Amino acid sequence: MSEIRQNMITKDWVIFAPERAQRPHEFIDRQGIVPLPVYREDCPFCIGNERLDNTIETLRIGEKDWQVRVVRNKFPALVPTGDRIRSGTGIYHNVTGFGYHEVIIEHPHHDRHFALFSLTEVEVILTAYLERYKQILTDKRIETIVIFKNHGLKAGTSLAHPHSQLAGLPIVPFHFRMRIDTAIRYFDDNGKCIFCATLEDELEKEERLIMNTEHFVAFIPYAALSPFHIWIFPKRHFSCFSYIQPEELEDLALILQQILAKLYWGLGNPDYNFILRSSPRGERDTEYNHWYISIVPRVNRTAGFELGTGMYINTSLPEKSAQFLREVEIPNA
Ligand SMILES: [Zn+2]
Ligand SMILES: [Zn+2]
Repeated sequence: MSEIRQNMITKDWVIFAPERAQRPHEFIDRQGIVPLPVYREDCPFCIGNERLDNTIETLRIGEKDWQVRVVRNKFPALVPTGDRIRSGTGIYHNVTGFGYHEVIIEHPHHDRHFALFSLTEVEVILTAYLERYKQILTDKRIETIVIFKNHGLKAGTSLAHPHSQLAGLPIVPFHFRMRIDTAIRYFDDNGKCIFCATLEDELEKEERLIMNTEHFVAFIPYAALSPFHIWIFPKRHFSCFSYIQPEELEDLALILQQILAKLYWGLGNPDYNFILRSSPRGERDTEYNHWYISIVPRVNRTAGFELGTGMYINTSLPEKSAQFLREVEIPNA
């Protein structure tokens, strides 16, 4: 018989069906690892091609031979000009498309990515995230900042050059509000943060842990919504990514790089998204909200069942996937 587990943080229900369960190695991408060129003449993100990308640069780390560049998205969903104005017609409301939509070009070379970066390279990328996060936060019209990465076609990327994105939104998305409501309710009932409580439980059980470093823990949630869905939580309780300390940032570079390398070597470079979920402006200093990173490998497809019920069917058991990833060895560079 299948088991329906509830994710306490997202409140989602997930069906785990043993008859449909796949073993971890069945998720290995058969396409495997396709090599890319170091440089492409037509790629706007390759070093030397900066002129192709006719847009504003908001941050550069390194000088001429830059390490990381942040630019405004050439086809932005939101723009930081004009103002945030709310209006409406009849029962409907709208807000002007004010906000920030930036691209973090993670490396000057075309063929590199997180799984292959050195720790120093990842640290520089995280530093760029942090600097832009803090800078955009000074704009009081911005309520929520999300940093995310789409790796591969199934994760929605159109450009192979390693890059991630940042969106500064003029509102708090409903999705965030729902999670916050759940966290507040848990805090009121139990007097503690639901994320800290989850961390305590996962550290005690150990069966879903993948990595445990000085400041962070990577694990597969008890009711993971999809196969190999991974959460990375900071051990110290804080709600906003902007409060991260230098030694924590260094440690985050380590755990993030190692986890993405485990996916790369273990599952054959699967497509994935990662999302840095920090708290909206008004929730930055709360006892109930805890920022974290979510990694979602795109190894299966959602279908009508998910759309129709809002529930998920996960064909991989979190305990088994965690064990598989714990055992993946990363070859020395
Ligand atoms: Zn490129
Ligand atoms: Zn917490």
